[in-house]
Amino acid sequence: MRNIWGNMRNKRAAFLQTGIVLLFLFIAEHPVSAQRVKEPENVPADWSAPYPPFRIAGNLYYVGTHELTCYLVATDKGNILINTGLAGSLPLIKNSIERLGFRLKDTKILLTSQVHYDHVGAMAAIKQLTGARMMVNAKDAPVLADGGRSDYELGGLGVQFKPVQADRLLYDEDTIALGNTCLILLHHPGHTKGSSSFLVTTKDEKRSYRVLIANIPTIITRRPFDAIPAYPDIARDYAYTLESLKHLSFDLWVAAHASQFKLTEKRMPGSPYDPLVFADRKAYDTLIHDLYGAYREKTGQKDP
Ligand SMILES: [Zn+2]
Repeated sequence: MRNIWGNMRNKRAAFLQTGIVLLFLFIAEHPVSAQRVKEPENVPADWSAPYPPFRIAGNLYYVGTHELTCYLVATDKGNILINTGLAGSLPLIKNSIERLGFRLKDTKILLTSQVHYDHVGAMAAIKQLTGARMMVNAKDAPVLADGGRSDYELGGLGVQFKPVQADRLLYDEDTIALGNTCLILLHHPGHTKGSSSFLVTTKDEKRSYRVLIANIPTIITRRPFDAIPAYPDIARDYAYTLESLKHLSFDLWVAAHASQFKLTEKRMPGSPYDPLVFADRKAYDTLIHDLYGAYREKTGQKDP
């Protein structure tokens, strides 16, 4: 009898020990997911307000919200989705994709302009639903993997979005190919360390268009650039990005925020297909000019 009870006690102890070991292993492997995701509140209402999806040019479509842009590149081998908006925007994005006649589950590649919660909020959920491969700028990958906790500016807010592990790291001028379409990543650091613009050539029945999906380098930190130990190269990076954007050539341009390229002024919801409303190089040059001004004001420099 004593032996049997003794054995059972040993078994129970061993069972508990195994459980504790497994728990430790789980926490060690999931250090971030063990933390609660807390997306910042009190964001502008138009960040999650709907905007009817539409065809921008060729196989490039708009599937974002009124202000937070999401782009669908529909190829003959599945689709690429760039950006997701906030976590709660998933049903809206899915609905927009379906209204255009595509399916969310055909998403093969996920990209982002920058790893802030207003562009990758729903990324983890979409990756899980679709099994798509997450490709992200190598400099943004650590922040994407820890839910924004290591972002040089927003990191103080804790985990702001569900973390996502990258399947492929991207570098400046890398090509992202799917089916009949190729995108080129341009590393445009500053806003985040791995902020990225994309160039894609798309064509319709009439002609082809070189489209820039720009990440506009707005300055979000209130600290002086030389007082950011987590990002010592920030001033140099912004200067580099401004120079790069200034000299790009393209036929059409859009951006990570709809207000940056004045989507709602250029195009009424329900308007017919007209890629050239997104040509507007003058508005682009004015925007870059203003960003140079903000940079000079920040740094006290005459020229970047
Ligand atoms: Zn941002």
